[in-house]
Amino acid sequence: MKRRRFIAGLGSGAALAACAPETQEQICSNSTQRFEWKLVTTWPPNFPGLGTGVNTLARYIEELSAGRIEVRVYAGGELVPAFEVFDAVQQGTSELGHGAAYYWRGKTEAAQFFAAIPFGLNAHEMNAWLYYGGGLALWREVYEPFNLMPFPCGNTGCQMGGWFNRPIESMDDLKGLKMRIPGIGGEVLQRAGGIPVNLPASEIFTALQTGSIDATEWVSPYNDVAMGLHQAARYYYYPGWQEPGPTLECIVNMDAWNSLPPDLQAIVRIACQATNLDMISEFMARNASSLEQLTADESVEIRPFPEDVLAGIKALTFEVVEELAARDPVAARVWKSYQDFMQRSQPWQAISEQAMLATKLL
Ligand code: CA
Repeated sequence: MKRRRFIAGLGSGAALAACAPETQEQICSNSTQRFEWKLVTTWPPNFPGLGTGVNTLARYIEELSAGRIEVRVYAGGELVPAFEVFDAVQQGTSELGHGAAYYWRGKTEAAQFFAAIPFGLNAHEMNAWLYYGGGLALWREVYEPFNLMPFPCGNTGCQMGGWFNRPIESMDDLKGLKMRIPGIGGEVLQRAGGIPVNLPASEIFTALQTGSIDATEWVSPYNDVAMGLHQAARYYYYPGWQEPGPTLECIVNMDAWNSLPPDLQAIVRIACQATNLDMISEFMARNASSLEQLTADESVEIRPFPEDVLAGIKALTFEVVEELAARDPVAARVWKSYQDFMQRSQPWQAISEQAMLATKLL
């Protein structure tokens, strides 16, 4: 009875039929069927935090399933180009994919809310919205027509605003600025007079170093140092207004998902959830040490964006998001859920995390 309750509990919150108590017999049947799955990613091979996080996911699935699911990881470009991960998993070329939902705005604009919205939810809040605020159920609805089952699977935490080859003193300095910045952040830059570019991770360093772009956002100190961005531009701005806590995704081809017995479905789902925790923990720890390195580096200037620049781009952000919701009814539904959650969350954040963080300055 205890075990039954435990198994039923695994599915709570996210309406996951796979773990309903009536399937207990199936869960306990310990099926011996074996699966060889591919996992395509949008990341460079073994890239610290992101690519290695995917390796962790693959290892969790293999360990938990005692090898009944074998997972072979392919970096961006190895089996399919980075930005074709969504298509490859939809079509079943690969059973699993890992990336960020805002890369798929060309498929469905609503996808962006499940990764990051500028000035939106942080990592804690994303998890709260997805697991306990209805976000994940909406995500499944949005991806269902694409034959995909999504899971939150990693989060970098708050990012940095990015690397710039010239100082940003006012909104005017954004005019004509050619910057790698995906998603809604890119649209905001465009509205401010800049030129957003979307590049896969593997092309960012060269683009910045050769001057084919003037600026790039990527992630945060840990990942940015790994990419060598501190050797390609001088000014490192914060905060990462464009990505306050982006969720990364694991997508599963729906036919492949349906072919799994319930116990293996539970293993994939819980392995994603464990990776979600693992990745943000790693970023939190390693960002701190990489920041020490950058602080000591005289060729780098770490600067806050001026307040009026942040206020200006924040105003533009909500214009962009409201227009998106006005033209796309699916995005409008997701935005309503996201926005309601954000408004409810803010007063609590203000007197808990935000208030505690403020005491560190005392
Ligand atoms: Ca980023």
